[in-house]
Amino acid sequence: TDQAMAVDTSVSPRANSLKPSKTMVIADRATALKESGVPIIKLAAGEPDFDTPKVVFEAGINAIRKGYTRYTPNAGNLELRKAICHKLKEENGLSYNPDQILVSNGAKQSALQAVLAVCSPGDEVIVPAPYYVSYPEMARLADAKPVILHTSISDNFLPKPESLASILNEKSRLLIICSPSNPTGAVYPRELLEEIADVVRKHPRLLVMTDEIYEHIIFPPAKHTSFASLPGMWERTLTVNGFSKAFAMTGWRLGYLAGPTHFVAACGKIQSQATSGASSISQNAGLAALGMGFAGGETVSTMVKAFQERRDFLVKAFRELKGVKIAEPQGAFYLFLDVSAYYGAEVEGFGTIKHSESFCRFLLEKAQVALVPGDAFGDDNCIRISFAESLPTIKEAVERIKKALALIRPK
Ligand code: PLP
Repeated sequence: TDQAMAVDTSVSPRANSLKPSKTMVIADRATALKESGVPIIKLAAGEPDFDTPKVVFEAGINAIRKGYTRYTPNAGNLELRKAICHKLKEENGLSYNPDQILVSNGAKQSALQAVLAVCSPGDEVIVPAPYYVSYPEMARLADAKPVILHTSISDNFLPKPESLASILNEKSRLLIICSPSNPTGAVYPRELLEEIADVVRKHPRLLVMTDEIYEHIIFPPAKHTSFASLPGMWERTLTVNGFSKAFAMTGWRLGYLAGPTHFVAACGKIQSQATSGASSISQNAGLAALGMGFAGGETVSTMVKAFQERRDFLVKAFRELKGVKIAEPQGAFYLFLDVSAYYGAEVEGFGTIKHSESFCRFLLEKAQVALVPGDAFGDDNCIRISFAESLPTIKEAVERIKKALALIRPK
Protein backbone atom coordinates (compact mmCIF):
# COMPACT_ATOMS: atom_id res chain seq x y z
CA THR A 1 0.00 0.00 0.00
CA ASP A 2 0.95 3.65 -0.24
CA GLN A 3 1.23 3.77 3.49
CA ALA A 4 3.77 0.96 3.58
CA MET A 5 5.92 2.89 1.13
CA ALA A 6 5.61 6.26 2.84
CA VAL A 7 8.96 7.85 3.49
CA ASP A 8 9.83 9.34 6.86
CA THR A 9 10.46 12.92 5.79
CA SER A 10 11.51 14.20 9.18
CA VAL A 11 14.97 15.74 9.43
CA SER A 12 17.33 15.59 12.37
CA PRO A 13 16.85 17.96 15.30
CA ARG A 14 20.29 19.33 14.42
CA ALA A 15 19.29 20.24 10.86
CA ASN A 16 15.93 21.43 12.08
CA SER A 17 17.39 23.83 14.62
CA LEU A 18 19.70 25.56 12.14
CA LYS A 19 18.76 28.83 10.53
CA PRO A 20 19.36 29.00 6.80
CA SER A 21 21.97 31.64 6.00
CA LYS A 22 19.79 34.78 5.69
CA THR A 23 22.28 36.65 3.57
CA MET A 24 21.77 33.94 0.96
CA VAL A 25 17.96 34.01 1.20
CA ILE A 26 17.80 37.76 0.52
CA ALA A 27 20.41 37.62 -2.21
CA ASP A 28 18.34 34.88 -3.87
CA ARG A 29 15.16 36.96 -3.65
CA ALA A 30 16.91 39.95 -5.22
CA THR A 31 18.38 37.74 -7.97
CA ALA A 32 14.92 36.36 -8.77
CA LEU A 33 13.47 39.89 -9.02
CA LYS A 34 16.36 41.00 -11.19
CA GLU A 35 15.92 38.03 -13.50
CA SER A 36 12.22 38.87 -13.85
CA GLY A 37 13.23 42.26 -15.26
CA VAL A 38 13.12 44.54 -12.18
CA PRO A 39 16.22 46.80 -12.28
CA ILE A 40 17.43 45.84 -8.82
CA ILE A 41 20.75 47.10 -7.49
CA LYS A 42 22.19 44.46 -5.21
CA LEU A 43 24.35 45.70 -2.38
CA ALA A 44 23.80 42.53 -0.46
CA ALA A 45 26.63 40.23 -1.40
CA GLY A 46 29.70 39.47 0.66
CA GLU A 47 31.88 39.09 -2.35
CA PRO A 48 34.29 41.43 -4.15
CA ASP A 49 33.08 42.69 -7.52
CA PHE A 50 36.59 42.31 -8.96
CA ASP A 51 37.85 39.44 -11.08
CA THR A 52 40.36 37.02 -9.65
CA PRO A 53 43.83 38.47 -10.45
CA LYS A 54 45.20 37.22 -13.77
CA VAL A 55 48.29 35.48 -12.37
CA VAL A 56 46.03 33.56 -10.04
CA PHE A 57 43.57 32.27 -12.60
CA GLU A 58 46.42 31.50 -15.03
CA ALA A 59 47.95 29.38 -12.25
CA GLY A 60 44.63 27.57 -11.92
CA ILE A 61 44.44 26.93 -15.67
CA ASN A 62 48.06 25.76 -15.74
CA ALA A 63 47.37 23.40 -12.87
CA ILE A 64 44.66 21.74 -14.95
CA ARG A 65 46.90 21.64 -18.05
CA LYS A 66 49.74 20.10 -16.09
CA GLY A 67 47.47 17.46 -14.69
CA TYR A 68 47.37 18.63 -11.07
CA THR A 69 43.91 17.22 -10.84
CA ARG A 70 44.28 14.52 -8.22
CA TYR A 71 43.67 14.27 -4.49
CA THR A 72 46.09 16.27 -2.40
CA PRO A 73 47.13 15.50 1.18
CA ASN A 74 44.24 16.14 3.58
CA ALA A 75 46.00 19.17 5.06
CA GLY A 76 46.84 20.62 1.65
CA ASN A 77 49.93 20.58 -0.55
CA LEU A 78 53.14 21.04 1.40
CA GLU A 79 54.31 23.82 -0.90
CA LEU A 80 51.16 25.82 -0.22
CA ARG A 81 51.37 25.21 3.53
CA LYS A 82 54.99 26.39 3.48
CA ALA A 83 53.94 29.52 1.60
CA ILE A 84 51.18 30.12 4.19
CA CYS A 85 53.76 29.76 7.01
CA HIS A 86 55.95 32.29 5.24
CA LYS A 87 53.02 34.70 4.84
CA LEU A 88 52.01 34.35 8.50
CA LYS A 89 55.57 35.06 9.57
CA GLU A 90 56.14 38.07 7.30
CA GLU A 91 52.73 39.72 7.48
CA ASN A 92 51.42 38.66 10.87
CA GLY A 93 54.50 37.99 12.98
CA LEU A 94 53.34 34.41 13.61
CA SER A 95 55.54 31.31 13.67
CA TYR A 96 54.00 28.06 12.50
CA ASN A 97 55.36 24.97 10.82
CA PRO A 98 53.47 23.32 7.95
CA ASP A 99 52.00 20.68 10.31
CA GLN A 100 50.19 23.52 12.04
CA ILE A 101 48.39 24.60 8.88
CA LEU A 102 45.21 22.97 7.61
CA VAL A 103 44.07 24.08 4.15
CA SER A 104 40.31 23.77 3.56
CA ASN A 105 37.51 24.67 1.17
CA GLY A 106 37.19 28.16 2.58
CA ALA A 107 37.46 30.07 5.83
CA LYS A 108 33.90 29.06 6.64
CA GLN A 109 34.84 25.37 6.67
CA SER A 110 37.95 26.15 8.73
CA ALA A 111 35.88 28.04 11.28
CA LEU A 112 33.26 25.30 11.56
CA GLN A 113 35.89 22.61 12.00
CA ALA A 114 37.63 24.65 14.68
CA VAL A 115 34.37 25.02 16.62
CA LEU A 116 33.59 21.31 16.22
CA ALA A 117 37.11 20.32 17.26
CA VAL A 118 37.29 22.25 20.53
CA CYS A 119 33.75 22.50 21.91
CA SER A 120 32.06 19.87 24.04
CA PRO A 121 28.28 19.73 24.48
CA GLY A 122 27.18 22.52 26.81
CA ASP A 123 30.28 24.65 26.29
CA GLU A 124 29.75 28.34 25.72
CA VAL A 125 30.96 30.12 22.62
CA ILE A 126 31.25 33.88 23.01
CA VAL A 127 30.14 35.70 19.88
CA PRO A 128 30.39 39.50 19.79
CA ALA A 129 27.37 40.99 17.99
CA PRO A 130 26.85 42.15 15.30
CA TYR A 131 28.33 38.86 14.13
CA TYR A 132 29.04 36.96 10.95
CA VAL A 133 25.81 35.00 10.47
CA SER A 134 27.38 31.56 10.71
CA TYR A 135 29.13 31.78 14.10
CA PRO A 136 26.13 31.13 16.38
CA GLU A 137 24.96 28.34 14.08
CA MET A 138 28.42 26.77 14.15
CA ALA A 139 28.25 26.72 17.95
CA ARG A 140 24.84 25.03 17.74
CA LEU A 141 26.19 22.45 15.30
CA ALA A 142 28.75 21.56 17.98
CA ASP A 143 25.97 21.25 20.62
CA ALA A 144 27.53 24.27 22.29
CA LYS A 145 25.71 27.41 23.35
CA PRO A 146 26.30 30.71 21.58
CA VAL A 147 26.56 33.52 24.13
CA ILE A 148 26.12 36.90 22.50
CA LEU A 149 28.34 39.78 23.61
CA HIS A 150 26.52 42.93 22.56
CA THR A 151 28.35 45.99 21.27
CA SER A 152 27.02 49.41 20.45
CA ILE A 153 27.28 51.66 17.43
CA SER A 154 28.49 54.46 19.73
CA ASP A 155 31.51 52.26 20.59
CA ASN A 156 32.09 51.63 16.88
CA PHE A 157 30.80 48.10 17.45
CA LEU A 158 33.84 47.18 19.53
CA PRO A 159 33.29 45.01 22.60
CA LYS A 160 34.15 46.30 26.06
CA PRO A 161 36.71 44.08 27.82
CA GLU A 162 34.76 44.42 31.10
CA SER A 163 31.58 43.18 29.39
CA LEU A 164 33.53 40.20 28.11
CA ALA A 165 34.93 39.53 31.59
CA SER A 166 31.42 39.66 33.08
CA ILE A 167 30.00 36.87 30.89
CA LEU A 168 32.88 34.41 31.19
CA ASN A 169 32.60 31.33 33.41
CA GLU A 170 33.98 27.79 33.60
CA LYS A 171 31.80 26.74 30.64
CA SER A 172 33.30 29.41 28.36
CA ARG A 173 35.37 27.54 25.80
CA LEU A 174 35.74 29.73 22.75
CA LEU A 175 35.75 33.45 22.05
CA ILE A 176 35.28 34.38 18.41
CA ILE A 177 36.91 37.53 17.10
CA CYS A 178 36.30 38.81 13.58
CA SER A 179 38.44 41.81 12.67
CA PRO A 180 38.02 43.55 10.29
CA SER A 181 34.42 42.65 10.92
CA ASN A 182 31.63 41.44 8.75
CA PRO A 183 29.06 43.09 9.05
CA THR A 184 30.32 46.31 10.73
CA GLY A 185 33.78 46.97 9.26
CA ALA A 186 35.05 47.44 12.82
CA VAL A 187 38.77 46.86 13.27
CA TYR A 188 39.92 45.92 16.77
CA PRO A 189 42.82 48.23 17.71
CA ARG A 190 45.90 46.51 19.12
CA GLU A 191 45.29 48.06 22.57
CA LEU A 192 41.79 46.56 22.70
CA LEU A 193 43.13 43.13 21.68
CA GLU A 194 45.71 43.41 24.46
CA GLU A 195 42.98 44.17 26.97
CA ILE A 196 40.96 41.22 25.66
CA ALA A 197 44.06 39.03 26.01
CA ASP A 198 44.36 40.13 29.65
CA VAL A 199 40.80 38.95 30.25
CA VAL A 200 41.32 35.70 28.31
CA ARG A 201 44.48 34.90 30.29
CA LYS A 202 42.44 34.60 33.49
CA HIS A 203 40.43 31.69 32.04
CA PRO A 204 42.59 28.64 31.41
CA ARG A 205 39.85 26.81 29.47
CA LEU A 206 39.13 29.67 27.12
CA LEU A 207 40.41 29.51 23.54
CA VAL A 208 40.12 32.17 20.85
CA MET A 209 39.16 31.74 17.23
CA THR A 210 40.13 34.76 15.18
CA ASP A 211 38.69 35.13 11.69
CA GLU A 212 41.12 37.33 9.76
CA ILE A 213 39.71 36.88 6.28
CA TYR A 214 39.39 40.67 5.77
CA GLU A 215 42.86 41.53 7.12
CA HIS A 216 44.07 43.10 3.86
CA ILE A 217 40.92 45.12 3.27
CA ILE A 218 41.70 47.79 5.81
CA PHE A 219 41.71 51.58 5.55
CA PRO A 220 44.56 53.63 7.03
CA PRO A 221 45.20 54.59 9.75
CA ALA A 222 43.54 51.34 10.93
CA LYS A 223 46.02 48.48 11.28
CA HIS A 224 45.51 44.76 11.54
CA THR A 225 46.87 42.85 14.52
CA SER A 226 46.77 39.07 14.65
CA PHE A 227 45.49 37.97 18.04
CA ALA A 228 47.86 34.97 18.16
CA SER A 229 50.84 37.36 18.04
CA LEU A 230 50.03 38.82 21.48
CA PRO A 231 52.05 37.51 24.43
CA GLY A 232 50.77 34.15 25.67
CA MET A 233 48.00 33.92 23.08
CA TRP A 234 49.64 31.66 20.46
CA GLU A 235 48.91 28.53 22.53
CA ARG A 236 45.20 29.24 22.71
CA THR A 237 44.44 30.83 19.38
CA LEU A 238 43.09 29.30 16.21
CA THR A 239 43.60 31.67 13.30
CA VAL A 240 41.20 31.37 10.37
CA ASN A 241 41.98 32.98 7.05
CA GLY A 242 41.39 32.44 3.36
CA PHE A 243 41.66 33.72 -0.16
CA SER A 244 38.07 34.69 -0.94
CA LYS A 245 38.03 38.36 -0.03
CA ALA A 246 41.49 39.88 -0.52
CA PHE A 247 42.18 37.97 -3.72
CA ALA A 248 38.63 38.02 -5.11
CA MET A 249 38.58 34.21 -5.09
CA THR A 250 35.19 33.44 -3.54
CA GLY A 251 34.37 30.69 -6.04
CA TRP A 252 37.71 28.93 -5.74
CA ARG A 253 36.83 27.81 -2.20
CA LEU A 254 40.15 28.04 -0.44
CA GLY A 255 40.88 28.86 3.18
CA TYR A 256 43.03 27.68 6.04
CA LEU A 257 43.49 27.34 9.76
CA ALA A 258 46.70 27.90 11.72
CA GLY A 259 47.11 26.87 15.34
CA PRO A 260 48.82 24.65 17.87
CA THR A 261 49.50 21.11 16.54
CA HIS A 262 46.96 19.18 18.66
CA PHE A 263 44.05 21.48 17.73
CA VAL A 264 44.96 21.53 14.05
CA ALA A 265 45.27 17.73 14.07
CA ALA A 266 41.77 17.46 15.58
CA CYS A 267 40.40 19.75 12.87
CA GLY A 268 42.28 17.65 10.31
CA LYS A 269 40.54 14.49 11.52
CA ILE A 270 37.14 16.12 11.01
CA GLN A 271 38.14 17.36 7.57
CA SER A 272 39.49 13.93 6.58
CA GLN A 273 36.04 12.43 7.17
CA ALA A 274 34.16 15.30 5.57
CA THR A 275 35.87 16.74 2.50
CA SER A 276 39.57 15.72 2.50
CA GLY A 277 42.06 18.04 0.83
CA ALA A 278 40.85 21.21 -0.89
CA SER A 279 40.72 21.40 -4.70
CA SER A 280 44.15 20.73 -6.22
CA ILE A 281 43.48 23.43 -8.81
CA SER A 282 42.55 26.05 -6.26
CA GLN A 283 45.58 25.22 -4.15
CA ASN A 284 47.83 25.98 -7.10
CA ALA A 285 45.96 29.23 -7.66
CA GLY A 286 46.32 30.07 -3.96
CA LEU A 287 50.06 29.55 -4.17
CA ALA A 288 50.17 32.11 -6.99
CA ALA A 289 48.08 34.52 -4.90
CA LEU A 290 50.59 34.32 -2.06
CA GLY A 291 53.32 34.94 -4.65
CA MET A 292 51.84 38.34 -5.50
CA GLY A 293 53.92 39.99 -2.81
CA PHE A 294 53.47 41.37 0.68
CA ALA A 295 49.74 41.69 1.47
CA GLY A 296 48.92 40.85 -2.14
CA GLY A 297 51.11 43.58 -3.63
CA GLU A 298 49.83 46.28 -5.92
CA THR A 299 46.94 44.24 -7.30
CA VAL A 300 45.35 43.94 -3.88
CA SER A 301 46.18 47.48 -2.80
CA THR A 302 44.45 48.78 -5.95
CA MET A 303 41.29 46.91 -4.95
CA VAL A 304 41.58 48.18 -1.39
CA LYS A 305 41.86 51.78 -2.65
CA ALA A 306 38.67 51.29 -4.64
CA PHE A 307 36.91 49.94 -1.53
CA GLN A 308 38.14 52.93 0.44
CA GLU A 309 36.87 55.41 -2.13
CA ARG A 310 33.44 53.79 -1.96
CA ARG A 311 33.55 53.73 1.83
CA ASP A 312 34.34 57.45 1.89
CA PHE A 313 31.49 58.21 -0.48
CA LEU A 314 28.95 56.20 1.52
CA VAL A 315 30.03 57.59 4.88
CA LYS A 316 29.67 61.14 3.61
CA ALA A 317 26.32 60.44 1.94
CA PHE A 318 24.79 58.83 5.03
CA ARG A 319 26.25 61.31 7.50
CA GLU A 320 24.25 63.96 5.63
CA LEU A 321 21.06 61.95 5.96
CA LYS A 322 18.90 62.67 8.98
CA GLY A 323 17.55 59.62 10.73
CA VAL A 324 20.45 57.24 10.22
CA LYS A 325 23.41 56.60 12.48
CA ILE A 326 26.70 55.28 11.25
CA ALA A 327 30.02 54.05 12.54
CA GLU A 328 32.69 54.57 9.90
CA PRO A 329 33.94 51.16 8.75
CA GLN A 330 37.71 50.77 9.12
CA GLY A 331 37.94 47.64 7.02
CA ALA A 332 36.09 44.97 5.00
CA PHE A 333 33.48 46.21 2.52
CA TYR A 334 30.35 46.77 4.56
CA LEU A 335 28.57 49.70 6.11
CA PHE A 336 26.27 48.87 9.02
CA LEU A 337 23.65 51.61 9.31
CA ASP A 338 21.33 52.18 12.23
CA VAL A 339 17.94 52.95 10.69
CA SER A 340 15.80 52.32 13.75
CA ALA A 341 14.56 55.92 13.73
CA TYR A 342 12.37 54.87 10.80
CA TYR A 343 10.72 52.02 12.68
CA GLY A 344 7.06 52.66 13.27
CA ALA A 345 6.72 54.73 10.11
CA GLU A 346 3.60 54.12 8.02
CA VAL A 347 4.16 54.02 4.28
CA GLU A 348 1.29 54.35 1.87
CA GLY A 349 0.86 51.25 -0.23
CA PHE A 350 3.40 49.37 1.84
CA GLY A 351 2.39 49.22 5.48
CA THR A 352 4.40 49.79 8.59
CA ILE A 353 8.16 49.60 8.77
CA LYS A 354 8.61 47.58 11.90
CA HIS A 355 12.12 46.18 11.89
CA SER A 356 15.23 45.69 9.79
CA GLU A 357 13.53 43.07 7.67
CA SER A 358 10.58 45.30 6.74
CA PHE A 359 12.94 48.24 6.23
CA CYS A 360 14.90 46.19 3.69
CA ARG A 361 11.69 44.99 2.07
CA PHE A 362 10.61 48.62 1.80
CA LEU A 363 13.89 49.54 0.08
CA LEU A 364 13.66 46.54 -2.21
CA GLU A 365 10.14 47.56 -3.30
CA LYS A 366 10.42 51.35 -3.32
CA ALA A 367 14.08 51.91 -4.17
CA GLN A 368 14.81 48.60 -5.86
CA VAL A 369 17.95 48.28 -3.81
CA ALA A 370 18.72 44.99 -2.07
CA LEU A 371 20.41 45.16 1.34
CA VAL A 372 20.62 42.71 4.21
CA PRO A 373 18.59 43.25 7.43
CA GLY A 374 20.75 43.58 10.52
CA ASP A 375 18.58 41.04 12.26
CA ALA A 376 20.57 38.36 10.38
CA PHE A 377 23.69 39.55 12.21
CA GLY A 378 22.09 39.91 15.63
CA ASP A 379 21.25 43.64 15.49
CA ASP A 380 17.73 44.50 14.40
CA ASN A 381 18.34 48.27 14.54
CA CYS A 382 20.64 48.11 11.54
CA ILE A 383 20.95 47.15 7.90
CA ARG A 384 24.08 46.10 6.03
CA ILE A 385 25.18 47.77 2.82
CA SER A 386 27.89 45.94 0.93
CA PHE A 387 30.16 48.20 -1.12
CA ALA A 388 31.54 45.42 -3.23
CA GLU A 389 29.99 47.14 -6.25
CA SER A 390 31.26 49.86 -8.59
CA LEU A 391 31.14 53.48 -7.40
CA PRO A 392 28.62 54.59 -10.09
CA THR A 393 26.29 51.76 -9.04
CA ILE A 394 26.69 52.71 -5.39
CA LYS A 395 25.96 56.35 -6.22
CA GLU A 396 22.80 55.37 -8.05
CA ALA A 397 21.75 53.16 -5.12
CA VAL A 398 22.24 56.02 -2.65
CA GLU A 399 20.14 58.33 -4.83
CA ARG A 400 17.36 55.77 -4.88
CA ILE A 401 17.55 55.17 -1.14
CA LYS A 402 17.42 58.92 -0.42
CA LYS A 403 14.39 59.30 -2.68
CA ALA A 404 12.58 56.42 -1.02
CA LEU A 405 13.38 57.69 2.47
CA ALA A 406 12.09 61.13 1.56
CA LEU A 407 8.64 59.49 1.49
CA ILE A 408 8.80 58.78 5.19
CA ARG A 409 9.80 60.68 8.28
CA PRO A 410 12.22 59.43 10.90
CA LYS A 411 11.27 59.70 14.58
N1 PLP B 1 34.38 34.69 7.57
C1 PLP B 1 33.78 35.88 7.38
C2 PLP B 1 33.82 36.88 8.46
C3 PLP B 1 33.12 36.15 6.19
O1 PLP B 1 32.51 37.32 6.01
C4 PLP B 1 33.08 35.16 5.18
C5 PLP B 1 32.35 35.39 3.91
O2 PLP B 1 31.41 36.13 3.82
C6 PLP B 1 33.71 33.95 5.41
C7 PLP B 1 34.36 33.75 6.61
C8 PLP B 1 33.70 32.84 4.41
O3 PLP B 1 34.88 32.80 3.70
P1 PLP B 1 35.21 31.65 2.66
O4 PLP B 1 34.69 32.09 1.33
O5 PLP B 1 36.70 31.56 2.68
O6 PLP B 1 34.57 30.41 3.14
